[in-house]
Amino acid sequence: MNEYDSNRIYDSVKRIGFEKTDNYEDANCYLLNTCHIRDKAKEKVYHEIGRVKKIFRAKKKPLVIVAGCVAQAENQEMLKREPYIDLVIGPQAYHKINDTILNYTEKQKIEETDFDAVSKFEYLSRIKNQSSESSSFLTIQEGCDKFCNFCVVPYTRGPEYSRPFKQIINEAKNLADQGSKEIVLLGQNVNSYKYNGFKLSDLILEIEKLNQIQRIRYTTSHPKDMTDDLIDVYKYSKKLMPLIHLPVQSGSDKILNLMNRKHSIKEYLNVYEKLKKINSCIEFSSDFIIGYPGEDEREFNQTYNLIKELKFINSYSFIFSPRPGTVADKLKLIDKKKSLKRLKKIQSLLFKIQIKKNKSLENKLLKVLVENKTKDNKRLFGRSEYMTAVILEGKEDYVGQTVNARIISSNQNSLFGKIDQSNNKKVA
Ligand code: SF4
Repeated sequence: MNEYDSNRIYDSVKRIGFEKTDNYEDANCYLLNTCHIRDKAKEKVYHEIGRVKKIFRAKKKPLVIVAGCVAQAENQEMLKREPYIDLVIGPQAYHKINDTILNYTEKQKIEETDFDAVSKFEYLSRIKNQSSESSSFLTIQEGCDKFCNFCVVPYTRGPEYSRPFKQIINEAKNLADQGSKEIVLLGQNVNSYKYNGFKLSDLILEIEKLNQIQRIRYTTSHPKDMTDDLIDVYKYSKKLMPLIHLPVQSGSDKILNLMNRKHSIKEYLNVYEKLKKINSCIEFSSDFIIGYPGEDEREFNQTYNLIKELKFINSYSFIFSPRPGTVADKLKLIDKKKSLKRLKKIQSLLFKIQIKKNKSLENKLLKVLVENKTKDNKRLFGRSEYMTAVILEGKEDYVGQTVNARIISSNQNSLFGKIDQSNNKKVA
């Protein structure tokens, strides 16, 4: 979501004359868009500002702006602690960014951290989303009302807000016209989207009508909001990709309860089975928090066994680390060594599953959306329907096309192959 936000901030500040630069040592404005989900997020921001300070020691100081969730959580505190920062702007106040910059004077530092998602999206909808990527993000919903005990999102992004249906469709059309082939619908709780009776399922089916769009994804979902209408879309949709990122966090009901996750393992399995019944090729990925306060060997083994049973692909796993201001911040931590041992065990299982899955694709023909050239400019980078990175031999002309690719080799995170010329006339 920060990537989407950064692009939209850029769409906005372009109107007052700013341009992106790769050579940021000569920039006259430095904007740091921050994420509070990461461990030690706050300290990382101050560290980064320290680095900028050093770079500009002998030069004219740039305008320094901190945006995003750390800005929201820290607000005035940032301006007090680090006078090098000039402006602090929270994620629901980006509609004010141009005026804030224009009104800034050295004597008056500015902090904008109101929760005003309605005005933000009204403003952003009047500014063209200039993304011309093959795969584009589109935020449809922000904030969260679920208050999982470990999570800062409800405090930094505010209450749930769903953008107007038409506003989203217009942005999707605009992205399609600019060359996007894939749209990734975003929200902290993307499947809780609701606007005047419209749900995520309606959005998917409407975006599906856009000819240029070949792939639709959404992230991140909550198991509680995997309603039957959304599950049923997998029966009808030809463009909805078969990978579902559905964080379960733990395989233990006791821990889910302590996390205030509001769903049980039985409910999760129920969703899993319904989807597998519709299409057995659907795969799942998840997030796992290991070593949550209260987790003992029994609960840990339940998580381990769940992974073994459901064979999640492309998952994220972390040791629990408390976030200031959350309920879990006050809980007694379990032994770090124990958590680390458990994380290693979980990751080794997850990686084994991933390697096996990738290996099984060797010699197979896959549909790959070619997104760009690799950094060394020698090959092409794309993604399979399951979001796996695919590195291909082939000409630049294929960027933006969905091609058939023959997979030759694989590792844990990527597939390597070549474009299958014989099949591509039909695909491109
Ligand atoms: S549902 Fe997701 S965003 Fe909301 S509080 Fe829980 S983890 Fe955070």
